Amino acid sequence: LTVLGLESSCDDTAAAVVRQRAGCPPEILSSVVRGQTALHAPFGGVVPEIAARAHAEKIDLCVEQALAAAGVGLGDLDAVAVTAGPGLIGGVLAGVMCAKGICAATGLPLVGVNHLAGHALTPRLTDGLDFPYLMLLASGGHCQFLSVAGVEDFTRLGGTIDDAPGEAFDKTAKLLGLPQPGGPEVERAAMAGDPGRFAFPRPLMDRPGCDMSFSGLKTALLRARDALIAEKGGITVQDRADLCAAFQAAVCDVLAGKAARAVAAAPGARALAVAGGVAANRVIRAALEQVAGDAGLRFVAPPLALCTDNAAMIAWAGLERFRLGARDGMDLIARPRWPLDETQPALIGAGK
Ligand code: ATP
Ligand code: FE
Repeated sequence: LTVLGLESSCDDTAAAVVRQRAGCPPEILSSVVRGQTALHAPFGGVVPEIAARAHAEKIDLCVEQALAAAGVGLGDLDAVAVTAGPGLIGGVLAGVMCAKGICAATGLPLVGVNHLAGHALTPRLTDGLDFPYLMLLASGGHCQFLSVAGVEDFTRLGGTIDDAPGEAFDKTAKLLGLPQPGGPEVERAAMAGDPGRFAFPRPLMDRPGCDMSFSGLKTALLRARDALIAEKGGITVQDRADLCAAFQAAVCDVLAGKAARAVAAAPGARALAVAGGVAANRVIRAALEQVAGDAGLRFVAPPLALCTDNAAMIAWAGLERFRLGARDGMDLIARPRWPLDETQPALIGAGK
């Protein structure tokens, strides 16, 4: 099977072609990602209107490039998969309309994909993971633990009740005058810092379950920063490194502590997998690897380009759904909100 995937739910316009021949591991024939960072930079965050316009302008080009790089034509495809949500509605619509256009013109089947399912099924694409496994999705917009038992069988074990951790890294960077995206900057600064100098909270750790909270951490950091400024008129490079290290240690403790709870809540799982930009953080990655190792589980972290937003994961999730018989019609809707453990819409013959 050869599937074209489209992704446009946030600030990356992407198209990719994934193929799986019977009995062989899947292959990513191409994966094109056009970021919009420069467009949103002057505003300090993603502007939905600008994002939607840029997706609509660039998605055709991404499709052309992905097909050319894969060396396939529309006639070689078996289906077109597209992110149908959750995400910024204007962007999701741009992708869905483009996919519908291709399907209407060629007669190819259309398969709508939940963006989160794309992230959650990526370890099967990259590492051939078998169900069931545990997944921590930690990005700029999401944070949740999922038990993944089938292509359409997800159980949410818990997640953030406020900010996503990537968002917290970005806000921390902003508060400390570091550039965006903040994650890599904070990680770099933290390497020279003392995580023990500031005692930041580990919210909800005393409560059962896998829910997390990161917004209080940001407030604690702001207070610590302002106390330093009040005391000596500003913060030094060392202060900044220590603040970053203490912040990162707190996020890391919460993610690892709750990962241990998730492992305990899903006894059949064979592996702990991660996705999302925050999984790029080496300190966090190492802590999660430790949790998996302690529980005798395999630890799987797909290559970074497949952990962050991309269309290969959408093509792959579409391929997996298509193989089970899923088809969507021209009435496929773009959904701004779409919890993963909710029944998929317009699903025909896929049987859960
Ligand atoms: P979505 O939730 O829709 O996937 P997104 O595009 O914001 O949203 P990603 O591209 O997966 O998500 O991840 C980006 C986020 O990951 C940013 O918030 C960024 O700061 C964070 N991030 C990237 N590298 C690191 C790192 N080394 N340490 C911590 N956070 C990081
Ligand atoms: Fe994403």
